[in-house]
Amino acid sequence: MSSIFSKIVAGEIPCHKVAEDDRHLAFLDINPVAEGHTLVIPKKEVDYIFNLEEDDYAALMKFTRKVAAGLEEAIPCKRIGVAVIGLEVPHTHVHLVPISTEGDLSFTKPKLKLSHEELGKIAAKIAAKIN
Ligand code: 5GP
Repeated sequence: MSSIFSKIVAGEIPCHKVAEDDRHLAFLDINPVAEGHTLVIPKKEVDYIFNLEEDDYAALMKFTRKVAAGLEEAIPCKRIGVAVIGLEVPHTHVHLVPISTEGDLSFTKPKLKLSHEELGKIAAKIAAKIN
């Protein structure tokens, strides 16, 4: 059975897209820990990031850096925090979170409640900053 993220890649489930190329997709996390919380995925479904082929791993990191640069321009923050967890969705994804304090990268604190419209506006703002 394909992962929820493969369904997003296939267009079977909607997402708030911020960037895409032929091998990768970046979209807002549906339960953000901070405004602009973005997930970057390879379109190819591989559960564990460290099981990616070397070339696929390098390409994912290159695309992730590009997304992070746009995110940093779009959302006021000190840095973009990076995390890979993968305990919920078995499809490699890199969390990019705009942070100003260490605590901003906490995945155990209550998530933000943002409407579909708010997420759409944030995604458009980020997308506009990614070349
Ligand atoms: P992890 O696998 O890294 O522990 O967590 C999976 C992440 O994916 C969570 O932050 C969760 O909010 C997010 N997520 C789960 N299902 C969906 C979905 O259908 N759409 C989006 N945009 N994010 C999702």
